[in-house]
Amino acid sequence: MIDGFKHKGKREQLVQLLRDKGIEDELVLNAINQVPRHLFMDSAFEEFAYKDQAFPIAAGQTISHPFTVAKQSSLLHVMKGDKVLEVGTGSGYQAAVLVEMGAEVYTIERQKELFDFSQRIFKKIKIRPKYSTYGDGYKGLPSFAPFDRIIVTAGSSTIPKTLLKQLKIGGIMVIPIGNENQMMTTFMRIGERDFEKMEFGDCQFVPMLERREK
Ligand code: SAH
Repeated sequence: MIDGFKHKGKREQLVQLLRDKGIEDELVLNAINQVPRHLFMDSAFEEFAYKDQAFPIAAGQTISHPFTVAKQSSLLHVMKGDKVLEVGTGSGYQAAVLVEMGAEVYTIERQKELFDFSQRIFKKIKIRPKYSTYGDGYKGLPSFAPFDRIIVTAGSSTIPKTLLKQLKIGGIMVIPIGNENQMMTTFMRIGERDFEKMEFGDCQFVPMLERREK
């Protein structure tokens, strides 16, 4: 599959839709305008790639709605050069958006099938995270910590303390917290032991699960 004029035109329409839905961060909108989302999905779904819909990828997982990707990316307040940890690589689309925003991206996926899938796409589109690995995101990446930003793209029933510890002071983590439905939540680390929590409404993600799976 290629990235042609038709796809670029559809991306521009998607960006306009996201603006209409309240996304204002130009760094985010520009990245969504650049990253060919259709290449992260099965070619059978190509015509849906630029609609604001979530879609099945492999292993029973989903590529998030473009609005969700835009919202989570905006809440991160990424600055160029920020070191960002993503938990839940999935298709790799969110990671690619962060790379396009100028972040240095470290990403973890617990499903081998999806990890392999995302590696193939990163190679193909030449938008690559700095580091991509197969493992349990609950553990974070202590050897690369601390991070300016952490984004969790699966719903966690608890607040993962291990991840909070890997945040720089002044850093932000965005994570959906809850079981079937989650609350989009951010934590800003304001001191060694102090975090400021904010909530941004209901959302629905696949669950964050412990341990990696073959
Ligand atoms: N960011 C992805 C969305 C993927 S859905 C995208 O842009 O396509 C959430 C992903 O989180 C799934 O692929 C799931 O396997 C993964 N996941 C769930 N729990 C995890 C964990 N503990 N560590 C790493 N990945 C996890």
